[in-house]
Amino acid sequence: MEIIGLTGGIGTGKSTVSRYLSEQNFAIVDADLISRQVVEPGMPLLDELEAAFGSDIINEDGSLNRKGLAAIVFNDVEKRKLMDSIMHKEILAEMRRVMEDFQQQGTHQGIIIDAPLLFEIGLEKWCGQVWLVTADMDLRIERVCARDDAKPEEVEARIRNQMSDDEKKKLSDEILDNSGTLEELHKQISELLQKKGFEVC
Ligand code: ADP
Repeated sequence: MEIIGLTGGIGTGKSTVSRYLSEQNFAIVDADLISRQVVEPGMPLLDELEAAFGSDIINEDGSLNRKGLAAIVFNDVEKRKLMDSIMHKEILAEMRRVMEDFQQQGTHQGIIIDAPLLFEIGLEKWCGQVWLVTADMDLRIERVCARDDAKPEEVEARIRNQMSDDEKKKLSDEILDNSGTLEELHKQISELLQKKGFEVC
């Protein structure tokens, strides 16, 4: 089954594209969702984090004390690297498990690895092709402000903190420009699916 990487910076419309592809019978491996699931109370990753960083990083109800962990790694490059490696290993292992389940089911047109940090984590290696969602900067800021009730300068800072679209474009096979209407986006996706030989329903 074809594995497609789907990525895009904050506010480009990656989640909107992912939802549309799910409606077109693609299986979605959602990196953000999985990265939240692996630190839910009772998950083995919490034991590993506790062993590395101490029991203060676990709240009384068994959930991860995110602020506590962030404070420990804040000014310590080595500890941050350790945290990232523990987390990434588990997130990637879980993504692989979910992907293999979908492959075994064999009921989808293809598998979408939906990951905002696809290139940063090196997930493009799992994918036969990568599709990048882009949109004009001012639209991204406007849409995220409306979605998250955030301030424009905060959103702009978050965008500037990420890998630039120009860099991502060089590494991608296809680009979906979501600077128009939703209808135009859906049309672009349908045309791309047809070009790639997938069904459009
Ligand atoms: P991302 O996952 O890339 O951060 P989303 O898919 O959540 O972005 O889109 C950001 C916001 O913009 C959402 O509220 C979404 O409904 C809206 N949106 C996405 N594409 C369009 C579009 N073409 N026109 C208008 N609003 C859009």
